[in-house]
Amino acid sequence: MRIIDVIKYLGIETYYSAVDRLQERRVLVPLCIILLLFNPERYPKKEFPVFRVVLEPGHGGVGKHPLSLHGDRFDAISGEYLDYFKEGASRGDLHEAAIVYAIAHKTKKYLQFLAPGVDNSRFFKLLKKYSGDMPRRINIVTYMSRKKSITDRDARELPDPNAPYRLFDYPDQEDTMQPGRLSRINAVRPHLVVSLHLAKNAPRDFEGMNPVIVPSFEILHKGLSYLKGEISGKSFYYNTSHLEWFVESETRSDFDWFLSDTSLYFTGYPLKKSSEPARGDFKGYRYNMIQWAYADAPGWRYPAQYHMPGTRYSASIRDFEPEGKFWVRERSPYERYRRDGGNEGFGGDNAYASYEIVRYILYSLHVHNDDHRLQKPGKSYISTWIMPLHVNAICAFIELGYLNRPRDRFILTHKQEEIAEGIAVGIYSLLAGLAPQDTKFKYLPRGKKLELDKYQIEGDKTYFDAVSDD
Ligand SMILES: [Zn+2]
Repeated sequence: MRIIDVIKYLGIETYYSAVDRLQERRVLVPLCIILLLFNPERYPKKEFPVFRVVLEPGHGGVGKHPLSLHGDRFDAISGEYLDYFKEGASRGDLHEAAIVYAIAHKTKKYLQFLAPGVDNSRFFKLLKKYSGDMPRRINIVTYMSRKKSITDRDARELPDPNAPYRLFDYPDQEDTMQPGRLSRINAVRPHLVVSLHLAKNAPRDFEGMNPVIVPSFEILHKGLSYLKGEISGKSFYYNTSHLEWFVESETRSDFDWFLSDTSLYFTGYPLKKSSEPARGDFKGYRYNMIQWAYADAPGWRYPAQYHMPGTRYSASIRDFEPEGKFWVRERSPYERYRRDGGNEGFGGDNAYASYEIVRYILYSLHVHNDDHRLQKPGKSYISTWIMPLHVNAICAFIELGYLNRPRDRFILTHKQEEIAEGIAVGIYSLLAGLAPQDTKFKYLPRGKKLELDKYQIEGDKTYFDAVSDD
């Protein structure tokens, strides 16, 4: 017989229940309070969203001979570097690498005020110059893609001076592969990468500051079909609005450059003028030169070295098949969001993020009384650029100016603080949204935050997390 039955039998059930309920209440009430305190779903949230941002000042190393020591783009098939390290533009003692690093470093100082656990009020004070709105609380963890640039003199003392600066993975002195800049960027699974560059000069119609963007897979795939002879007309290219291909030199038309870059993107071989693959000019499988979720399985170089027709390693574009993890990724809706359509009407979120940061830089110069007719958002350079193609993050990539233009030289050397502030406020606005107040300003930022929800894959996993396997 159970105790409760004994109580019932003895006719003291009512008494038991009253005591029981009282006991229950004594336990339940504090339990509810504890649950409320520790259950984040019920209790108002104290944490704010945390975003990971990489500031990516270009270059930093030295473009010296010999290639075997100083090169980049290490090709596992030949065991050699395929390219010299690109040290960036210079004019007299002005160096792109040093200028973009200084600007990125100053930007980081501003963004540190948004780091988790740090007093945000200093950043919010800054925002008052740009918006009358009550700012939203967010946290940003900021990374720099590289350390300070080295000089030729530093380089002489080091066994492998370009080691911290290479874009692609490379073998160390013991022949162990080390992660290059792209692998290190992807390892932190960023939401946003902000790549900063400047150049020696620009075509005349590229004024102001210019975004650098990659086109949609769709247009590249049409280029592949054209090269395979499956479509004959060029209208797919000429009817695509905003598609002005980056022309490396005037020796070929923009359409011919588009075809050559399309061939390079798919097969690793650029085209000669005759539309034939330029053998001996193999540029490697870039997506296999980094550690990320889209590289082919280890050992890929054994089948790849034969460049078998009908595979993704085919040397001839006619027999090329875009199969394997990287090419599945390229076709994914997330790549479409990053590269196609969007708030600018082209270029997806990458173009929007790039233009928005440019507008915030100009807005910052404007609120600091620095307007000039040559300071404006310009056209974009469209090609199959390495950085935006090999990260899952939204990639803002900007040519900040040109060293042959006096006005650009002036702001790039004397207004670095203002440029950095504009970049930092632009990054905040892209992640939190911010309504700019000076509605008369000609290049007013839109202030709309990036819609990152569409990059959710399933549950809590996002496209940004998916870039690295672990
Ligand atoms: Zn550059």
